[in-house]
Amino acid sequence: MEDASLLCELQQSHGDLNSMIVISDHVCAEYRQKGHPERPERILSTLDYLKSQKKLPIRWLSPGKVSNEQLLRAHSPGHLAQGAAPVADFDADTPAYPAIDSHTRRAAGGALTALAIATQEDGARPFSLFRPPGHHAERDRAMGFCYFNHIAVAALEARQMGFGRVAVFDFDVHHGNGTEEILFEVPGCAFFSVHQFPCYPGTGRESRGNCLNYTVPPGAPREFYRSQLQRALLDLESWKPDLIAVSAGFDAYSKDPLSDAALEIEDYNWLGERLASTRLPLFSLLEGGYSEDLPLLIGAYLKGLSSVS
Ligand SMILES: [Zn+2]
Repeated sequence: MEDASLLCELQQSHGDLNSMIVISDHVCAEYRQKGHPERPERILSTLDYLKSQKKLPIRWLSPGKVSNEQLLRAHSPGHLAQGAAPVADFDADTPAYPAIDSHTRRAAGGALTALAIATQEDGARPFSLFRPPGHHAERDRAMGFCYFNHIAVAALEARQMGFGRVAVFDFDVHHGNGTEEILFEVPGCAFFSVHQFPCYPGTGRESRGNCLNYTVPPGAPREFYRSQLQRALLDLESWKPDLIAVSAGFDAYSKDPLSDAALEIEDYNWLGERLASTRLPLFSLLEGGYSEDLPLLIGAYLKGLSSVS
């Protein structure tokens, strides 16, 4: 992939980069359905890219385990049972892959490892790189390529660890309906989502309680998308969180096949920088992002996260 120039340029414009911690495991590429956009190459090509570039130093870690107790803060016992032994596809987008239980648990484990590092290492802003994504999964329902809601599991774990105010920031182009459903009215949690509307899954038109939604119409100019991201981040900062958990979806990109949005590679770099500038404990995990350029978008975001010490 001819990407070396991107990180090189970004580095030249911003000086030295701090090292980044990425949690991943290529085992998450070991399932697929022909033609499905949520495909193994999303991770494999990102791993190839991040491991071949030399400009951003990366420390690689494996995911820890997630317990049933941790999952049950976000999901019902019935949902866990269904995940362990699916009998039919959850919906047309969300197949009953035979080993999906272990894959979605691994992604949850990656989120918890990212949380642990964010809380233990000053200035670390780890990224958890797994599939499947999670932010559409509701307490009792798998949907939209998602089975367990990894960001909600991690946010609720952070509360359990003693963080008083945990903010979830979701910049995936689709509304994180599952995260909203699970975190709605949960004390000490707030959810800030910037997404295209109307769009899948059809929720998130208005804010309610501790869940704030910032919508962007299909085809809106890039500047408007950026202004909504900035509005959400200003509101998030005003809420004065102790920790930020980021649902990092890269499908608001102008070339993404699943949206009609206008963000460019540089916008993901800006998002990383902007989040890092809060200087709060912070971790991110991968949600969506279906274009061939996903590795470049993730690389630009990580570089942004690394540019603030
Ligand atoms: Zn999405």
